[in-house]
Amino acid sequence: MAEQKMAEQNLVDPVTRFPKPPFKKQSQPWPGLAGKMEPPPDHGETSYKGSGRLAGRKALITGGDSGMGRAAAIAYAREGADVAINYLPAEEPDAQDVIALIKKEGRIGLAIPGDLKDEAFCKKLVEQAVQDLGGLDIVVCNAARQQTRASILDVSSEDFDATMKTNIYAPFWIIKAALPHLKPGSCIIGTTSEQAYDPSPDLYDYAQTKAATMNYVKSLAKQFASKGIRVNGVAPGPIWTPLQVSGGATMEKLEKFGGMTPLGRPGQPAELASIYVQLAAADASYATGQVYGSAGGSGQP
Ligand code: NAD
Ligand code: MG
Repeated sequence: MAEQKMAEQNLVDPVTRFPKPPFKKQSQPWPGLAGKMEPPPDHGETSYKGSGRLAGRKALITGGDSGMGRAAAIAYAREGADVAINYLPAEEPDAQDVIALIKKEGRIGLAIPGDLKDEAFCKKLVEQAVQDLGGLDIVVCNAARQQTRASILDVSSEDFDATMKTNIYAPFWIIKAALPHLKPGSCIIGTTSEQAYDPSPDLYDYAQTKAATMNYVKSLAKQFASKGIRVNGVAPGPIWTPLQVSGGATMEKLEKFGGMTPLGRPGQPAELASIYVQLAAADASYATGQVYGSAGGSGQP
């Protein structure tokens, strides 16, 4: 029998692997750029290694320019998938970094900027992804709006509406448009949050959308099971992404960000990439209606 040589994996201490607070004061105009954060987030650019787990698959990821979406996009491409990403026009520099990384893997990397608060755009986004990828079998509804407001009295109707449109309506529109294209074996992944179970007082509108995300994951999993389409969620804890430095957290919270978790630091998007891969991979065929967490020792599930 031929001897197979495997590279030995070094033990990695999760406590010291990534930066911990205190963090530098910083703020960016919404929606923020990963490229301007200090320290820069780690999306697995140099660390994620693929092994063909998603070879030939076709994925659409909203918010694929930065944060969890970028980590998933890089990992999917390295696992052999073609990937379309959606983002806002203001995020073009982040998006182009991601597209370059996808193309470096020899995969199709499709950039489709546009505002998810617009129903017509959501439909167009799906149609373009299907057309230019030559099909679609992984839909990651990951984009979200999070703006901290100390009091419900500070949440304007425009604020509330924008959060609901981005976090709840957009997945509704996207999944409706995608469904006719999804063959058995396809999957949908929603990014929910520890906020779904343990809401922060200053995230009144955002937190309820994450509870809604967890809930639609579970209802659609039941609705689509007989079609062979799996629906799952990812529930991150505090992760170092542009969302947090562009109005998502107060400056006070940001300086100590992640310090309250048992690991004593925020997570990096790279640490969640393998969860998005696992939930999309064909060998996870019994996982549907599940929410997988990654929150440094706190949070649920
Ligand atoms: P991020 O800022 O990197 O990603 C959010 C993305 O949403 C942006 O890149 C942007 O492209 C997109 N977006 C927002 N509004 C949009 C609109 N109207 N049209 C199109 N795109 C729009 O931040 P992230 O933290 O990686 O966020 C990704 C997901 O993770 C979100 O669903 C968020 O709720 C969730 N999450 C984040 C944390 C955290 O601590 N960072 C914790 C739990 C859950
Ligand atoms: Mg972004």
